[in-house]
Amino acid sequence: MSELLTVADGRVILFHYVLKDDAGVVIDASQEEPLAYLHGQGNIVPGLERQMVGLKVGDELVATVAPEEAYGVARGDVTESVHRSAFPKDMELQVGMPVRAEGPDGQPLMLWVEKIEGARVTITLNHPLAGKTLHFSVRIAEIREANENELAHGHAHGPDGHHHH
Ligand code: ZN
Repeated sequence: MSELLTVADGRVILFHYVLKDDAGVVIDASQEEPLAYLHGQGNIVPGLERQMVGLKVGDELVATVAPEEAYGVARGDVTESVHRSAFPKDMELQVGMPVRAEGPDGQPLMLWVEKIEGARVTITLNHPLAGKTLHFSVRIAEIREANENELAHGHAHGPDGHHHH
């Protein structure tokens, strides 16, 4: 029956994708196994989620997503240089990796490593893909109704139903 389902809220979608930037450089792609997400919960970028609606298994989609509907417009003056010792000793720092921090009011804040020069680490509030127009090539591999657990959690679980985080 699952081949009759279309992409809609409350369904788990498994899809293969290739993501390129304006220059055609591959930024990201699904591996051997397709990526699974729960539709309607903002688990993928809004501009792609919106364009997925109504697709069925086997359908292909070429979607262009503007920064406003992806990782946001790049903001200026949101970087800071900190010393390596500000991070846990065992943390392996890499350019582009997210770092969880605490905002001025103690609220959780997501930062990204922009540059590493010796012991100086530049962190930024801009997501590495902020300001970029994204070009997706998508192929729908599977669509199924989400189970109660997935709906309660707001995300898809593995094929074996195991809670993996
Ligand atoms: Zn969960």
